[in-house]
Amino acid sequence: MKKLFLLALVAGLTACAGNKETRPFPPPASIELPDNAIQGDMVMGRVPSGAIVMMNDENPAPDAVNTELKVADNGRIVFGIGRDETRAKILDIRLGNGESIRKKINITTRQFDIENINGVPENTVNPPPDIAARIEREQAEVVSARLRNDNRRDFDTAFIWPLEGRVSGVYGSQRIYNGTPKSWHSGLDVAAAQGTPVKAPAAGIITFAKPDLYLTGGTILIDHGMGISSNFLHLSRLDVKVGDRVEQGQVIGLVGATGRATGPHMHWGMNWLKVRIDPQLLLPAKP
Ligand SMILES: [Zn+2]
Repeated sequence: MKKLFLLALVAGLTACAGNKETRPFPPPASIELPDNAIQGDMVMGRVPSGAIVMMNDENPAPDAVNTELKVADNGRIVFGIGRDETRAKILDIRLGNGESIRKKINITTRQFDIENINGVPENTVNPPPDIAARIEREQAEVVSARLRNDNRRDFDTAFIWPLEGRVSGVYGSQRIYNGTPKSWHSGLDVAAAQGTPVKAPAAGIITFAKPDLYLTGGTILIDHGMGISSNFLHLSRLDVKVGDRVEQGQVIGLVGATGRATGPHMHWGMNWLKVRIDPQLLLPAKP
């Protein structure tokens, strides 16, 4: 019985193959990926749905691991390029028919500035030893919220500015606080008056919302799906709670100067999982 069924199937396929009007089977692979990306980029691409995509660096460092990228039902894939990445990314795309296609994405490097920030509360630049455990715990909570990686595609949209104002800090700059070199600036700062509403730059789900972290003050994370998230820091008021769904343009909180800040401004950082990416690359020219 099984044999008969198989024979019928083979016959059917042969019949199809003989018909010039029939679409080729399997369909030709449609893969959209850029040839280049820059440091801090959110890279979007498309692969045939059902494909398996593994990513690694070209000539990977000994500790570099293959990362399997999530593939959305419509074939959308997304990943981030870190600030200091220089090696090309190699994507191995395994299609449903067993065929494998390799794509290489070269990385364009950028020049990052050095920024001196003075007048920051000294206890946030060199926190007292008894505060270290608190900071570590709070940062760990934020990191774990960033690791959410579900199939929503809220990032797959044109992002909008969360507010209007002067850009007062950019992604990637090396920061020196009150003379002490600290880690590079992970986001985009826009100076604005205390209490200015901050709007969601794209839709998503709130995965973190706390009013009083030691370094970042009022802190909100919006998860845009597939590992892409936004964080807003130093807020003076939070208008959302964990689990809320927010739409693009919805007010999530108010500008403040809580945590390590010299004055009221909006800090907006973005991540692909643990990789920090540059929000400004997703925005239209300043309003
Ligand atoms: Zn900032």
